[in-house]
Amino acid sequence: MKLFKCTVCNYMVEAESIDEACLKCGAAPSAFRELTEEEAEKVYNSERTNDLLMELDKLCMKLVDIAYEGVDINLDPACKKLFTYTNDKAWEIKQLVKAEIENHIGKGKW
Ligand SMILES: [Zn+2]
Repeated sequence: MKLFKCTVCNYMVEAESIDEACLKCGAAPSAFRELTEEEAEKVYNSERTNDLLMELDKLCMKLVDIAYEGVDINLDPACKKLFTYTNDKAWEIKQLVKAEIENHIGKGKW
């Protein structure tokens, strides 16, 4: 199976050949480019890590939601401090995740 990428929108398709318009942007089949073996390998090898990074981002947003609620309840200073710390760290991790994803995209690992 070959891996093709739409040169208009970057949508990728695994197929023997491209016979239909791009599912994402509607570009003609001729807009697709077959990835080299090395390019395809980068995409496949990074797939699980990219999924994990997106899951980590999602968990950070869950932590932020929990932290906001904890700060709002404001039970006592120690609790508020912990929820504030959690919020700060979750945003830091989220930014690290986003930077790593951007690096992956820049290196063709997406
Ligand atoms: Zn497209």
